[in-house]
Amino acid sequence: MEQDDCVFCRIAAGSTDAAILHRDAGAVAFRDIAPKAPVHVLVIPTRHIPSVDATGPADEATLGHLIAVARDIARSEELADDGYRLVMNNGAAAGQSVDHLHLHLLGGRELGWPPG
Ligand code: AMP
Repeated sequence: MEQDDCVFCRIAAGSTDAAILHRDAGAVAFRDIAPKAPVHVLVIPTRHIPSVDATGPADEATLGHLIAVARDIARSEELADDGYRLVMNNGAAAGQSVDHLHLHLLGGRELGWPPG
């Protein structure tokens, strides 16, 4: 269900602009508006799901699909050889700032570990 007050629902619906890299029936991928790495892409489910913690068994195919889309974009952005990071922040302590499930794809530079 689309939520009018959710920016990622609006991007998925096409009513808010974003630099879209991929769109299919279940997922949309677009460039992060404030990139933290040379390549910073967000992969979201088309359907509004607030967070990882809000998912259940019925969402497992969706969760897997987000990773598969990120993998394909990592290849097309030529990140696969050097490496890249996939991140899902869940909740305030992890820094989740948009309450629509999203997978970060980060690459194009050395990424420190552990993250802050
Ligand atoms: P998180 O902090 O894990 O919730 O990540 C949310 C991400 O969404 C941040 O990296 C933001 O820069 C990004 N973001 C917020 N609004 C937009 C937008 N309109 N278009 C693209 N990225 C956005």
